[in-house]
Amino acid sequence: MDTYSLEYAKSLDEQDELKHYRDEFYIDPNTIYMDGNSLGLLSKRAERAVLDTLNDWKQYGIEGWTKGTNPWFYMSENLGKSMALLVGASEEEVIMTGSTTVNLHQLAATFYKPQGLRTKILADDLTFPSDIYALKSQIKLHAYDPDSHLVQVKSTDGRFLDEDVIIAQMTEEVALIVLPAVLYRSGQVLDMKRLTEEAHKRGILIGFDACHSVGAIPHSFTDWDVDFAFWCNYKHLNGGPGSVAGLYVNRRHFGTEPGLAGWFGSRKATQFDMEHTFSPAESAGAFQIGTPHVLSLAPLAGSLAMFMEAGIDRIREKSLGMTRYLIDLIDCELAGMKFYIGSPREDKSRGGHVSLEHEEAARICKALKKNGVVPDFRAPNIIRLAPIALYTSYYEIWETLQILKKIMAEKQYEKFKNERDIVA
Ligand SMILES: *Cc1c(COP(=O)(O)O)cnc(C)c1O
Repeated sequence: MDTYSLEYAKSLDEQDELKHYRDEFYIDPNTIYMDGNSLGLLSKRAERAVLDTLNDWKQYGIEGWTKGTNPWFYMSENLGKSMALLVGASEEEVIMTGSTTVNLHQLAATFYKPQGLRTKILADDLTFPSDIYALKSQIKLHAYDPDSHLVQVKSTDGRFLDEDVIIAQMTEEVALIVLPAVLYRSGQVLDMKRLTEEAHKRGILIGFDACHSVGAIPHSFTDWDVDFAFWCNYKHLNGGPGSVAGLYVNRRHFGTEPGLAGWFGSRKATQFDMEHTFSPAESAGAFQIGTPHVLSLAPLAGSLAMFMEAGIDRIREKSLGMTRYLIDLIDCELAGMKFYIGSPREDKSRGGHVSLEHEEAARICKALKKNGVVPDFRAPNIIRLAPIALYTSYYEIWETLQILKKIMAEKQYEKFKNERDIVA
């Protein structure tokens, strides 16, 4: 069969073991949603979980903390247990709390302890801006100059990071390393196992921002001996806008005093003793701060159940199948149209999306939206396309390429301005 044909796309869908999950999501029949790496779609199970929580509030009032479908007092810990399977950790090492940026602040406040020569933080030039803002402000809190104390590893091509170059910068001046697990633009997966080994050989603590990797690829944080990690749950995990984030702390660090303490970090049994001496939980739970945002946690109960059932290995396998298929179609259908694939072509280095570069990217994205395809744009020239294992079909990938080809052939993008919208 011609692998670029519609029949082939349909045959891939027929063979897909995960295809029935698509029916569990709210999918607008008139759009092809390729933006699940920015905001995942709502599933019926996530919706049910929110409604159950609202109902518990309605029925039990304050008793909802300990009664109902998913008692609020234990929700962050209970969800952390499911999440632990997705990140390769033991149950006590994961907690659902805060937001990505707040969790990074918490972890840097805890693990960045400049001493003697070791006063710097090592990060990279391609990471998400919020991480850089947070790390620089943590450096300032220690009264150091962020310009000299935040070392950002450079990329030679603006797309990828070279692990050898990162390792070469793990000097005796570095106290802490924070790197992305998957780069948000190119989708490159960093070798977390190797980077952790090399950091530890040099006596440096290392943590990862897993926003773009959680729910898309398997992790083995505990086996790799990573010190800490943090991530958001509204991208690949479909937890909803602003859903509560995740945090991993290696059990070796249990008992380390949280940099930012708060009463929800207490041992559960004694929290309500209301003592002024803080007794932190002997788990990742110690890194919680205040009362959990229960209504933003609730959707994760429904969403994570689907990940547990489908299994992260099957999700990864389908995701790779889809991004590989997408790349093949781009190579074939868009040849000679000045596109460049800015994501790794080898499976093991590619995360959950494909980054397609073009100098007219901003207005090509607008033309795609006009034609019912939802991509996402990253300035100045990237169209990110994310087929999602639980709800995207191969047919939709094929159709996206037909639409893109037509937009280019008819120069439809020329009708739009080549600039981004406020939210991109
Ligand atoms: C999405 C994302 C964030 C967002 O942080 P929030 O605190 O959730 O706004 C941070 N880092 C990376 C790498 C991201 O992809």
